[in-house]
Amino acid sequence: MNAGIYIHVPFCAQKCPYCDFYSTSYTKQTAEAYTAAVCRNLNALPQGLPADTVYFGGGTPSLLPPAHIAQMLDALRRRIALTDDAEITLEANPLTMTAPRLAAWRQAGVSRLSVGVQSFDDAVLQALGRRHSAAQAEDAIRRAQAAGFANLSLDLMLGLGMQNERILQTDLERTLALRVQHISVYLLKIEPETPFGKCPPALCDEDETAALWLRTDSVLTAAGMAHYEISNFAYPGCESRHNLKYWLCAPYYGIGPGAHACHGGQRTAVPRDLAAFCAADTQPETVTDAAPLTDSERIMLGLRLRQGIRYGDYPDAAETVRKAAKPLLPTYLTEHGGMLSMTLQGWLVSNAVLAHLLKDVL
Ligand code: SF4
Repeated sequence: MNAGIYIHVPFCAQKCPYCDFYSTSYTKQTAEAYTAAVCRNLNALPQGLPADTVYFGGGTPSLLPPAHIAQMLDALRRRIALTDDAEITLEANPLTMTAPRLAAWRQAGVSRLSVGVQSFDDAVLQALGRRHSAAQAEDAIRRAQAAGFANLSLDLMLGLGMQNERILQTDLERTLALRVQHISVYLLKIEPETPFGKCPPALCDEDETAALWLRTDSVLTAAGMAHYEISNFAYPGCESRHNLKYWLCAPYYGIGPGAHACHGGQRTAVPRDLAAFCAADTQPETVTDAAPLTDSERIMLGLRLRQGIRYGDYPDAAETVRKAAKPLLPTYLTEHGGMLSMTLQGWLVSNAVLAHLLKDVL
């Protein structure tokens, strides 16, 4: 199976108060040292490795000069067997999406942008500590389309107390009007080691969040998008090929401080330390799981997808899961043609459903 390559770019112009992804401030010197270190590590990938997705995540990969992105992609193409139709995604902040950068990313081979918008309400954006306005985000998406990007994803966030159904409706209408191919919808999660963790904002309660999420589902699916994963919507054929690898347990390699990987029978992580990453010939990695992809884990990941899991893929666990699923049918789970999947109601309480379903599975 083709692998995916994840490259973590650990630079942000400013830290958002809810975010605990690893990033630090950008300087020209550190960006150069970082890019050189990524290229060294790309050269250490298995020669000729078959791969069909590359994902520049962060951090804010769009802060890097486009020439650095091109340099990394060149190094990658020289080392591995990247398919001609590879999906190459770059996470982008609207404020960095200038016409010259967009053209240079296209020239380098980037085929997909994932744009962190979060909301089209300026008060919500301010409360989330975002530096761009709604209008700037719309302009950025339109510039990307004018530059020839035909595969765009946009992130929205739900759950801040000031968000209500009216604000959400406007967010969804303005999102749909932009005709992007893919939308990710995340619930605002308060991470302890962040400014929001120390001084939390007012949040929607569980019922309000559920109502917003259900409305998001009904508006986006009525517009023809498939709710193909618990947090993701796409028009047919525009699902994130890279992220599908995580849920379908395909191998992926991770490069950069804070990157994770899963291949060759183990999960690994690169320490969140840019200086150590730049100083090492080969990135330091720690094994976080020496026996990953158990039945339990694969079922948990598979049930994030609308299609669900095929009982036949779990000869040891199928009967136990089938029995545990019975009392949750049809409200939280559905069975169809040898498959088991979660309903919308199931996704809303997915942790409880999984705990019940997997209690006797190894
Ligand atoms: S949300 Fe994005 S831009 Fe904000 S700090 Fe996190 S990685 Fe950086």
